Amino acid sequence: NTQRIGILGLGAMGRALASALLGAGREVTVWNRTPGKADGLGAREASSVEEAIESSDLTVVCLLNDASVRETLAPVAPKLDGATLVNLTSGSARQARELDGRLAGHGARLLAGGIMAVPPTVGTDGAFILYSGERELFDRVAPALAPIGRPHWVGADPGFAALYDMAALSGMYGMSAGADHAVTMVHREGGDVEAFKREVLQPWLEQMLPFMVSGADVSDFVPEEYNPAMQATGLENILAASEEADVPDDLAGHLRASLWRMRRAAA
Ligand code: NDP
Repeated sequence: NTQRIGILGLGAMGRALASALLGAGREVTVWNRTPGKADGLGAREASSVEEAIESSDLTVVCLLNDASVRETLAPVAPKLDGATLVNLTSGSARQARELDGRLAGHGARLLAGGIMAVPPTVGTDGAFILYSGERELFDRVAPALAPIGRPHWVGADPGFAALYDMAALSGMYGMSAGADHAVTMVHREGGDVEAFKREVLQPWLEQMLPFMVSGADVSDFVPEEYNPAMQATGLENILAASEEADVPDDLAGHLRASLWRMRRAAA
């Protein structure tokens, strides 16, 4: 039975998780370092971390970072024997593996996770949650947590959910920085930013997405039929247009270095 769910952390994300689970009829017990954050939520509020864990079949941890998870769990460690914890706090693969080792040492089991959603999209169709850890544990726990987002298992290594999460975020931040740069160029030259986004940037990115994700490891990857001279010239055109629009070209300038690396590799 994994219907009684504890949640440690009622920040923006913890609250969204609690709402989605309550909305799906789960029995939810919450704890937050600063009291009073459960007001209006409809969840049962525990007065201690220990109480939240003990009154639940599984406990979701969604705190700021790895340090806050360590700080929160250390005092209750001796009481964790037999507990199931699902850590949805963002962090690195190594941090997840270390947490897994520490919890195992206290007789507790960890399913490590990464939330591929933001608070307003938690529980919506597009939301999905990466999980890593023992497959059998995932199979047991995932149905109870399905209301927060589609569960997706990425391997037995507890570090993989964090690895995939951070890698996906890195991809998104790169694209989003590129999109910001693009929009700023159009804006500074007096273009219609909304029309540019809708009619040019979005369809262009959608068309190119399959090509952007075709590589394996950039350090030794040269795409087939790659024309480095054309690419390098194309990049100089982007940098020139950016300079004319008076937009700093840090991002594209950085790309120039990696293009030259590829060009050397292709030569
Ligand atoms: P918030 O800043 O809104 O909330 C942080 C939470 O962590 C609060 O409950 C806070 O408690 C608690 N906390 C901070 N430090 C400690 C500590 N030392 N001991 C105990 N509790 C502590 O962050 P979010 O809720 O937005 O994010 C939570 C996690 O979810 C993060 O790891 C984030 O990366 C991840 N995430 C967030 C997304 C988002 O868009 N918001 C998207 C995907 C993942 P208190 O109220 O007492 O300060």
